[in-house]
Amino acid sequence: MFSLTDRVSIVTGASRGIGRAIARTLAEAGSDLVLVSRDAEALAAVEEEIRALGRAVLAIPCDVALVDTPARVVSATLERFSRLDVLVNNAGINNTGSIDRVDEENWQATLNTNLTATYRFSREAFGPMRERHWGRIINVASITAQTGGVNGSVAYSASKGGMLAMTRTLARDGAPHGITVNAVAPGQIDTGMARALAPEALRQVEAAIPLGRLGTPDDIAYAVLFLALEQAGYITGTTIDVNGGLLKR
Ligand code: NDP
Repeated sequence: MFSLTDRVSIVTGASRGIGRAIARTLAEAGSDLVLVSRDAEALAAVEEEIRALGRAVLAIPCDVALVDTPARVVSATLERFSRLDVLVNNAGINNTGSIDRVDEENWQATLNTNLTATYRFSREAFGPMRERHWGRIINVASITAQTGGVNGSVAYSASKGGMLAMTRTLARDGAPHGITVNAVAPGQIDTGMARALAPEALRQVEAAIPLGRLGTPDDIAYAVLFLALEQAGYITGTTIDVNGGLLKR
């Protein structure tokens, strides 16, 4: 009953961490996969993992921040699978630092990777989704959009706030065409990104989490899976907080 059989999903940032867990979880639910990230070797390992689950998979090593990447990825997806059902905008970078340390280059790189790529991928995905009158766009944002970052992260939190605002607007654009657009906002999840924080800062965050532990990549993947299902078709323009109770609305 809860299945993604015959669906085709693009997951950006699929080489490790949360994206890898999302790709595996969608594949376990029956979806074929298109995997995107820069590290070709790491991506090949995930490709093998998905293939071993019996799903068809296409790995496209590339930089999501480049202007022509989204069109190229969507076009390769249609060439291989003739359809696109689910887009997960997950690739992200977090250059932490207070305003003094965030220079123009840092700001642009963060906004291009986290926010502009989400806009471009969504724009390219809309066409094929509209054609079938069915689509799911799921944006992996962050708790920092609501709370501000632990170590400053001015560009990061701005990019994630932009993702939440864009999610609500795209939901209106998609609704007449059967396309839902939602976000998942992770709290502190145990991945390379979290471990890049100073150990003391990480300990402080962990101590403040009501459920008493960091999140796992699977905690996020299950929320993404739910939003991708047929049964979530009446949910659009919203954000699911997955943060162990760290933020109460
Ligand atoms: P990781 O750093 O472990 O993974 C990031 C992923 O994004 C990698 O697969 C990386 O692949 C990919 N990526 C980064 N830049 C690019 C790029 N320019 N082009 C293509 N791929 C890129 O982070 P997480 O798994 O923790 O984060 C995943 C998402 O979850 C991010 O959007 C992050 O902001 C969000 N998030 C994470 C939280 C956490 O606590 N971990 C908390 C809140 C939100 P590669 O290096 O191969 O390109």
